[in-house]
Amino acid sequence: MLKFDIEKKNGLARVGIIHTPHGDIKTPAFVGAATRATVKALTMKEMNELGSQAILSNTYHLILRPGIKLIEKAGGLAEFCSWHKPTFTDSGGFQIFSLPDVKITEDGVKFKSHIDGAKFEITPESSMQAQWAIGADIHMAFDHLAKSENYEDMEEAMRRTHAWLDRCVKEHEKQEKTYLKAGKPEQYLYAVVQGGTFNDLRAKSAKYCAKKDVDGFGIGGVFVADGMDEMLKTVCPLLPENKPRHLLGMGQEPIDLFVGAEFGCDTFDCVGPTRMARNGSLYTLDGRINIKNAKYKEDFTPLMVDCDCECCKNYTKAYLHHLFKTDEITAKVLASIHNEHFVVAVVDKIRESILNDTFNDYKESFLKRYYHK
Ligand SMILES: [Zn+2]
Repeated sequence: MLKFDIEKKNGLARVGIIHTPHGDIKTPAFVGAATRATVKALTMKEMNELGSQAILSNTYHLILRPGIKLIEKAGGLAEFCSWHKPTFTDSGGFQIFSLPDVKITEDGVKFKSHIDGAKFEITPESSMQAQWAIGADIHMAFDHLAKSENYEDMEEAMRRTHAWLDRCVKEHEKQEKTYLKAGKPEQYLYAVVQGGTFNDLRAKSAKYCAKKDVDGFGIGGVFVADGMDEMLKTVCPLLPENKPRHLLGMGQEPIDLFVGAEFGCDTFDCVGPTRMARNGSLYTLDGRINIKNAKYKEDFTPLMVDCDCECCKNYTKAYLHHLFKTDEITAKVLASIHNEHFVVAVVDKIRESILNDTFNDYKESFLKRYYHK
């Protein structure tokens, strides 16, 4: 069982440490989105220096390229991308269900590669096999993402996710035996709670997942932050307290990180911060700014005075503006360093504030300034 120590609790919020074979994650923590075994525009050295504790890669993308066998041959994901800290993989469900020609049966999904049209099939079993071969510390069960937001589709997706979870757990145990026998490190499985925006379905799903022999929980399919607090208040108390919870794909908006941590989530991942960075949309304590805006042309101050990232310590807004205007690659690098550091640091500070009993003050002052409320 994945070791998770809770150091402090405050309501549903908690501070803890997840112990993985590749090291510890002090939670709450923001996990870097390394979809294709890389965080776009950043090296792993930069990720390490900006304070990231863990990364999350996507099984679907890695199955297509470079292929699971190659990653296994390289010694696993961490070795392949030279990230010597904890790693997660998500099952790829989210990406597969967004493809145009996806065929879903009770057995699994058939789809065509978005790259060359090659045919693929993923089942709960093959997803588990792929994730063990990739070798991340923490895997997500293969889940079915609903095709629409309506109740019937959500219920159907949840039902199938639960049936697939049972098969994932079984296959995970099978793979575990084989890998441990071969002297490989332990890997861990999270169930994924579905149910969309419907709290009765969320409760059903949480209860179902809670009973399973898994190491933690992903909370999936959250597309809109509206009502996320109520959803988490429904889900988290139904999950065993001693197992970690990962809020999948949320964290582009800082408020989601506060709400997520306040109502019981331990880790977060989101491609938003680095995606926005590449477009010149940069976090500051006073809200997001577009660095391409003409008003920054002669602004010789740092992006954020009180940020200790490589970008803010060394460069001015005028320089960043120039790099974006001339479409220099370095623009994306520096902007990504800052945005990723910003979200990592916000969650680290949330952790500290829960420990110091100052969470509410920190939340209120941060959000007031950031959203100009
Ligand atoms: Zn910075």
